Amino acid sequence: MAFLEYWKHEYEALNDVYDDAVITEPDGLTVAELEFVRRGTQASPFLHKDYKQILKRDYHNISKLVIDDAVELYVIRKDNTQTLGCAADIAQRVSAFLKHFKIQAPQKKFRLIIYLTDWKKSLEPQPLTVKNINSGSTGTLNDIRYIVIWRCEEICKVLVHELIHCFGLDYYRTADIVKSEAITEALAEIYHIIFTLIESDEPFEKFIHYFKLNLQYGIDMCAVLQDVDWGKANIKGYFIDRVALLIDVDKLTKFWNNKSKTIEVSDAKLMKTIARTDGKLKKNMTLRMYYTNND
Ligand SMILES: [Zn+2]
Repeated sequence: MAFLEYWKHEYEALNDVYDDAVITEPDGLTVAELEFVRRGTQASPFLHKDYKQILKRDYHNISKLVIDDAVELYVIRKDNTQTLGCAADIAQRVSAFLKHFKIQAPQKKFRLIIYLTDWKKSLEPQPLTVKNINSGSTGTLNDIRYIVIWRCEEICKVLVHELIHCFGLDYYRTADIVKSEAITEALAEIYHIIFTLIESDEPFEKFIHYFKLNLQYGIDMCAVLQDVDWGKANIKGYFIDRVALLIDVDKLTKFWNNKSKTIEVSDAKLMKTIARTDGKLKKNMTLRMYYTNND
């Protein structure tokens, strides 16, 4: 199978550069940095206004790490009884990602702002808004690229998604935002599985197992999403297209490997599958991917 060969190669290449991160912890933060974190957060277009208020009011405990002498990572907690937990994994992932995709200075200098909240993505209340779904965004402030992530839930996967945006690896981005986002997310899910295998010392042979579990979960989620009130959130197609792309993973892989201009997304196979699921799945459904860690 052609697609497996490609992802095996990605696994091996990422594994080779994993664990090499140089992480330092400088003393203190400047006023300008604190201002950057505050303004960058408030400027995030997909962060709900209620969440913006809570972050501004309650999240002041900032720790800074510098990754590979370039990336500035700010981890923000409500209080310091919470551990920094996932920060080390995040730093390793960022470092491996930059090396793997050959991101050099000055691009490499970006800021990563992470809020350790326990906010979960949720199908309630409806209609859905960014508060139910979005977890991160990428932007530019004072000519500096930055990423903000505001949920611990799926933080390592969201990180991969935002890194793809941050370094313009989403070369396929067009006016069709739904489709572009679905491609980014499908790729993020695959790289997330690969990273997680590396982090838990599992061989690549496990990839197909986790890929299939995740795909089935995505299909089940699409069945549930048929009954959801989407309000003005025009993103039902994003969830559908993402799973349709994973069903056609061979095509997605060729598209990514060849840097092709376009990819046709057909939901025909998906729709045939979900017709059989009968809508019985609503109870335990979340908006996470199946295979995830560091939550
Ligand atoms: Zn995105």
